[in-house]
Amino acid sequence: MNIALIAHDSKKELLVQFCIAYCGILSRHNLCATGTTGKVVSQATGLEIQRYMSGSQGGDQQISARISCNEIDLLLFFRDPLRPKPHEPNEMNLLRLCDVHNIPVATNIATAEALIHALERGDLDWRAILNPSDQR
Ligand code: PGA
Repeated sequence: MNIALIAHDSKKELLVQFCIAYCGILSRHNLCATGTTGKVVSQATGLEIQRYMSGSQGGDQQISARISCNEIDLLLFFRDPLRPKPHEPNEMNLLRLCDVHNIPVATNIATAEALIHALERGDLDWRAILNPSDQR
């Protein structure tokens, strides 16, 4: 599965702790992330992560493009709902595209926990069945 990671600055440490806790599961999948998120998570966990631009520089739009091409199977996007971002319209579009393409998405750690267990159980394998030509 292809998993995308994004965290706003105030949520980065939370995502790092989440990825440390679930490193074993995450290491069996292809990971990508926006720039700084990918950097801090890979430094803390040793996980191999394909890094895009920083969110404010268009990294979320690079991930959006992959979602549009149905190349992302799960998005973990730890948002800070209390501090609006200048690139928030792009982030809303990212979430919209997840709905267009039926991509499971977590915007907080509680949902992320549920999805990572679903991933481990194989509950999300229907995505691979829908895209049999993809190499996952
Ligand atoms: P970053 O981007 O991982 O480069 O910080 C995420 C964001 O804040 O949108």
